[in-house]
Amino acid sequence: MIITKKRDFKELMGNIKNYKSFFLLGCSECATLCGTGGDPEIKSMKEALEAEGKNVTGSFVAKTGCQVLGTKVELKPFKDAISESDCILVMSCGAGTQTTVELFEDKPVYPTNDSMFLGNMTRMQIFDERCSLCGKCILDKTGGICPITACPKGLLNGPCGGTNDGKCEIGPEIECAWVRIYNRLKRIDKLEDIKNTAEPKDWSAHKKPMSLSAREKKSS
Ligand code: SF4
Ligand code: SF4
Repeated sequence: MIITKKRDFKELMGNIKNYKSFFLLGCSECATLCGTGGDPEIKSMKEALEAEGKNVTGSFVAKTGCQVLGTKVELKPFKDAISESDCILVMSCGAGTQTTVELFEDKPVYPTNDSMFLGNMTRMQIFDERCSLCGKCILDKTGGICPITACPKGLLNGPCGGTNDGKCEIGPEIECAWVRIYNRLKRIDKLEDIKNTAEPKDWSAHKKPMSLSAREKKSS
């Protein structure tokens, strides 16, 4: 899921100071789980805006804010509330914000959140980055632990000299990725794999902007 955090409200107010009325759009997926764009956050945002003398013409929590066509259909009943607003505030990730920009080309659209990383929710409201979306996965060679993400240096061929008692030199709260990989390979009886040398990472698989069609997925 995409991990988001709320932007500073004062900063948001600075961006939208010239607008009077707003439509609020959340997302029922990642932003809801992050506590940045579900029903409770929409309610709080409405109250905060009204306390600043602003008007909220309507709100909706989209099923999946990054799904352009689905969101377009879901927003049809809100046509009037959206057209009455000066501006749409999107309480999801940057992808959801850009869905909204695409659907309402003539309307100012502002994000209320910062998009941080692709993460796993390990406990309620605790998120860890596990994958950096490199475009060419090497988990098959590393016991299923990603050194590109888990090692602050992204080292591909074993630990640096800073590993200390299983911890990373960056800080004792971080386990050394390569100690984890070693332990994992040992546990699944694949320790021999650690001797394989990884070639320098081919970052050409990580192009921007990325795009993938269903047809391409089937033929690959
Ligand atoms: S190797 Fe690449 S795709 Fe695989 S988990 Fe790591 S960053 Fe993600
Ligand atoms: S101590 Fe381990 S995790 Fe930290 S930078 Fe070195 S190899 Fe990477």
